[in-house]
Amino acid sequence: MAEKLNNYENTNRLFDKAADVIGIDEDIRKILKTPFREVKVEVPVRLDSGDIEVFLGYRVQHNGSRGPMKGGLRFHPEVDFDEVRSLASLMTWKTALVNIPFGGAKGGITCDPWQMSQRELEMLTRRFTTRMGFAWGLHRDIPAPDVNTNAQVMAWIMDQYSQRYGYTPGIVTGKPLELGGSPGREAATGKGVSIATREAARDAGIDLRGARVAIQGFGNVGSYTGKFLSEMGATIIAVSDASGGLYANAGLPIKELFDHTYEHRTIEGFGQGEALSNEDLITIDCDILIPAALGGVITQDNARQIEAKMVVEAANSPITTIGDAILNERGIVVVPDIFANAGGVTVSYFEWVQNIQAMTWDEDHVNTELEKIMVRTYNEVTAIMKQRHVPMRTAAFMIAIQRVADTEKMRGGF
Ligand code: GLU
Repeated sequence: MAEKLNNYENTNRLFDKAADVIGIDEDIRKILKTPFREVKVEVPVRLDSGDIEVFLGYRVQHNGSRGPMKGGLRFHPEVDFDEVRSLASLMTWKTALVNIPFGGAKGGITCDPWQMSQRELEMLTRRFTTRMGFAWGLHRDIPAPDVNTNAQVMAWIMDQYSQRYGYTPGIVTGKPLELGGSPGREAATGKGVSIATREAARDAGIDLRGARVAIQGFGNVGSYTGKFLSEMGATIIAVSDASGGLYANAGLPIKELFDHTYEHRTIEGFGQGEALSNEDLITIDCDILIPAALGGVITQDNARQIEAKMVVEAANSPITTIGDAILNERGIVVVPDIFANAGGVTVSYFEWVQNIQAMTWDEDHVNTELEKIMVRTYNEVTAIMKQRHVPMRTAAFMIAIQRVADTEKMRGGF
């Protein structure tokens, strides 16, 4: 049966499933499912060719009852309101789940950054900031990196915003260290994914030493995840990115591949391993599959062919609701995005705290605090799984929804 849900409907399905178990009443449900504010702006940029292109930029602020709204900005041809709305909602649940004092937001610009020069990207980012900045604020909404955005993009935002509103490093997180970025932020999402994988593998009876891992997507999140998991003893047998995939039965040399990718921003040209397609990577024979790129890659069309014992969602929404139901039915453990990739926003929180206090933490302190939050959250989630006999995703959503529902009710105003 083919059922076509848009991204936001998909996310709300997951929400409803957990809200049903905890018995959230209809009034609060309506509030929690409706985004607080949505902004769309026109972003005209003069291209290097001399022509003007008009891009569209979005920001959805989903819920701010627990604190300033927080979430990344992505640059991608498929960015639209539906996708951004769904990702903003996930940020609300993610920040609530790890219990940091933020709400959820997300934004993006519909563009193809791979076809744009640095100058064009800078103009795009600055124009977007000028037009969207009114909706942001240190105590209102704080953007961060996401797909195809990085520390340089955050530096442009910080500079552009500060020109109008005064020096405000904390307006974005994921900045370069020299401009108030946090030690450990660049690696944080991958570090968090590796901690989540380590905890869940232990309970699933998978020994990480020697575990065969396949990673789809080798950008910031996928590459750091591979590096940390291989340091924990796992064998990374396959990785892929937009250029295609690489496979080595005995394991890829992850350190070299990491360095190659860091320099060239693609695994292409690495010169080791056998070629593999992105589709084949998903169904490869492995113990742990880690989708770390875009949404919707595990669906009703390939979920039955997955051979992994465990899937760790390093990307946001890599599994559709039907794909998820199939994996659950097949007994494959799914470590959900709102837990698995929460390390990024957790260290963004540390960065924001450091900016507000004009202080710098050392990297060990950042990593110790991150480890504590990830392990504490994992223990809270598994306690609910055992008590209520629900999958990990539902348990994670239950904790998050309850926290946001409580603060909405306490704040009232309706
Ligand atoms: N874009 C990341 C995410 O999806 C990080 C967000 C942030 O640090 O605010 O969680």
